[in-house]
Amino acid sequence: MINVLRGFRDILPPDSEGFAAIEAEARKVFALYGFRELRIPTLEKKELFIKSTGTTTDIVQKEMYSFTDAGGREIANRPEGTPGIARAYIENNLNQSGRNSKFFYIANMFRAERPQAGRYREFEQIGAENIGGGGPASDAETISMLVNLLENIGIKDIVVDINSLGCAECRNVYRAQLLEFLKQHSETLCEACRGRIEQNPLRALDCKIDGPRLAETAPQMQLCEACGTHFSETQELLNLAGVKFRVNHSLVRGLDYYTRTVFEVRSNAIGSQDAIAAGGRYDDLIKSMGGPNVPAVGWAMGVDRVALLLKEQFAAAEHGVKVFVVASVKEAAKQAREKAFALLSSLRKAGISADFSNFEASFKSQMRAANKSGAAWAFIIGEEELKNGTVSVKDMRNAAEQEQIKLEEAADFFTKVLD
Ligand SMILES: [Zn+2]
Ligand SMILES: [Zn+2]
Repeated sequence: MINVLRGFRDILPPDSEGFAAIEAEARKVFALYGFRELRIPTLEKKELFIKSTGTTTDIVQKEMYSFTDAGGREIANRPEGTPGIARAYIENNLNQSGRNSKFFYIANMFRAERPQAGRYREFEQIGAENIGGGGPASDAETISMLVNLLENIGIKDIVVDINSLGCAECRNVYRAQLLEFLKQHSETLCEACRGRIEQNPLRALDCKIDGPRLAETAPQMQLCEACGTHFSETQELLNLAGVKFRVNHSLVRGLDYYTRTVFEVRSNAIGSQDAIAAGGRYDDLIKSMGGPNVPAVGWAMGVDRVALLLKEQFAAAEHGVKVFVVASVKEAAKQAREKAFALLSSLRKAGISADFSNFEASFKSQMRAANKSGAAWAFIIGEEELKNGTVSVKDMRNAAEQEQIKLEEAADFFTKVLD
């Protein structure tokens, strides 16, 4: 017996149907906002993530699912979507297409951290990237699209936290101030923070151990005039879009490429501390990767986490077929099976979902299968029906109801009368 790889899992029905429902809703919402799908490969050069996601991030330091292939190349299973989208944008000269550069992806991501409850090495993200939109309207559009999507799929009590990390200019000033402050208090920091304050002092604000205390004591970032205006306009536009949010100055996000607006979304309904989606602006990333100087803003949502929130809702949803076909005739069994099979075909061609179990089994066992299938109706071909060229229609929720109709009119009858 060969088992699934450690840290990986199978997603069975009805959970898989929950994932599909979230994906379908996402596609609808993306279309409303003019975002189009960009499919990127699962594998990329490892270097791509080191150069974009950043060397001081947990993803690159600890979680990269990477390996050396037979040709000696350093390869990584993508840990997040943005670097691949940015690479594709540059490589395909999409800035010259004169077309909409608003993209979405629905893709599996990988991380090689130690498997633990509810965290898998392969997980799904739905993400959006607006490349080229530099104004605050793009920030507000991207965030309100995310909230719109979460509301549509049934997430309750959505909380949006936003902050601005400023541009390279305001960040350089702040970086120096913060570094000075952290050095003075370095003995109070955790080991990880102490090790990286020179490289990336901002990460200390994001640290689970030191972050909450630093939020009160550390100096706050002063935005330059342009960044300040951008941030306040973003907030005005979010208000116009009816998005409720709060400004959270300790929100940093653990990726190196963010500039200006960053945001995180969680649900209070389950009292979880973990974000279900997060994102931000990355105005310098495309240029730093060798592409044109274009601003961008995007987010990614953890589909596994959202699906977990909606688990009960999905389990209660009806996934059964509409009609279950049962054939049971002792004499002329072959003839009955053929009629039943032809009936299945005509139902499905008419767009009516239909199923059957085993025409050779007893009537009782076929009816049991019909019950288990969750089908609303059973179409039965028995002795009498075969003789008359009819089929009996039985309401599975109301055992007493049964009527006979002409076999060739079955699909029509379902469409017009039952459904
Ligand atoms: Zn600035
Ligand atoms: Zn720390």
